[in-house]
Amino acid sequence: MTSSFSNLSLAEPLARAVAEMGYESMTPIQAQAIPVVLTGQDVMGAAQTGTGKTAAFSLPLLQRLLKHENSSTSPARHPVRALVLLPTRELADQVAQQIALYAKYTKLRSTVVFGGMDMKPQTLELKKGVEVLVATPGRLLDHIEAKNAVLNQVEYVVLDEADRMLDIGFLPDLQRILSYLPKQRTTLLFSATFSPEIKRLASSYLQNPITIEVARPNETASTVEQRFYSANDDDKRRAIHQVLKTRGIKQAFIFVNSKLGCARLARSLEREGLKTAALHGDKSQDERLKALEAFKKGEVDLLVCTDVAARGLDIKDVPAVFNFDVPFNAEDYVHRIGRTGRAGASGLAVTLVSGSDARLVADIEKLIKKKIELEAVEYDEDQPRGRINDGRRAWREAGETGDGRDALGAAPRRERERDYRGGREGREPRDQHRGFRPAPVSRDPFFEKPYEPSSAEAAPAWEAAAKSPTRSGISANIKPKRKVAALFKAVQPETSTQ
Ligand code: AMP
Repeated sequence: MTSSFSNLSLAEPLARAVAEMGYESMTPIQAQAIPVVLTGQDVMGAAQTGTGKTAAFSLPLLQRLLKHENSSTSPARHPVRALVLLPTRELADQVAQQIALYAKYTKLRSTVVFGGMDMKPQTLELKKGVEVLVATPGRLLDHIEAKNAVLNQVEYVVLDEADRMLDIGFLPDLQRILSYLPKQRTTLLFSATFSPEIKRLASSYLQNPITIEVARPNETASTVEQRFYSANDDDKRRAIHQVLKTRGIKQAFIFVNSKLGCARLARSLEREGLKTAALHGDKSQDERLKALEAFKKGEVDLLVCTDVAARGLDIKDVPAVFNFDVPFNAEDYVHRIGRTGRAGASGLAVTLVSGSDARLVADIEKLIKKKIELEAVEYDEDQPRGRINDGRRAWREAGETGDGRDALGAAPRRERERDYRGGREGREPRDQHRGFRPAPVSRDPFFEKPYEPSSAEAAPAWEAAAKSPTRSGISANIKPKRKVAALFKAVQPETSTQ
């Protein structure tokens, strides 16, 4: 369902800003949520990133705040009226930029605070007074403790990507922040999925919320072709090479479950001739931005990332997503593959399943309510087994480590799990960011542009890599079947359960 913004009777400054953004019609979440938020009711919205949910909550919120707009220079006349909480710095920055665009013809002020940056410039902005404050929880608590942010006049609070905030472990911080807010307020909660934890959070902090679901929770986009290939750890990189080649895919995200595995896999793929960058929580803000920028420019073909690191990226329509590791949390599967097949574009999501992943795959099956068929990859003769183009050094490093690591050098599952669950990725312990170099994020044009595939005509690196002389053979674990290309032709893309 889409409809025109003109049906909304938005105030002229907001309507003008929307027109300038070039939006022709509302997205489904906007069509459903904006009228409800305009009435001041609490909302529990199931919507993934990329659905237009930022405008869905910020336009009506700004409209309702217009009664407070004034040109006074006195900070006291610009108390925080709306608080938008997000799990990651990148996401906070993107949302703040969008809000600033929607509010540009109003006198309402907005700013963003997140960790990894010097607190001083943020403090100055807060002290000047802002009506809309976008924040990540850890840094906001810093500012509350330093008395830079006073929240006793907040009328609206938005918990965006709430499931992710809980995953990261922000619940105690959220509870503290919410305790500073007036009881009389409107609360909007957005989450990609409605897990029991999210429902508990909603029942504690929302009052008679209207539930809005644009795609049913836990549903995957029908435009994403989902494939599950059986591949043991030794063969996973080879499977990636094969699928990239067979499908002619130029760029992809590769998801792994741990920071350690992320760095290792990126290094291995790079050694094998693929232009690869790693994106995980231990990378500085600067390094993350550089990796993303390189991906957007087409200088990098593969972005190997952990769930949390990828969460905040406004990168849409990536041609393919690989799950190198089956995610521990089935909901992460939905998030991961949501990177591809957006906005009607078709996408490919490939999950590489090893023998020990049966339970995780069953969890995904249950969540997405689709039967998962495991397929075999049949490799071209020129696709080498195991480690590729890497000669004896790689085999020595990875083959028989004797320390329980697999042939990719990835840590055993128990270790990976610990890294993931106990990990601080995306989390903002307040003293963790002291070492980050401040990056001029709010002025970084990177986040202002959606992802566009590189216009470079050059053949992707793996094609060159595949042409180079390598050892060949079929994995002993895979029974020769049809060629991958034949498999893809033979099977229609799956459709989602509508
Ligand atoms: P979001 O899900 O809020 O992160 O939005 C995803 C992207 O969709 C952003 O780049 C928005 O600028 C864009 N967008 C939001 N609403 C619309 C709309 N009605 N029409 C076209 N693009 C939109």
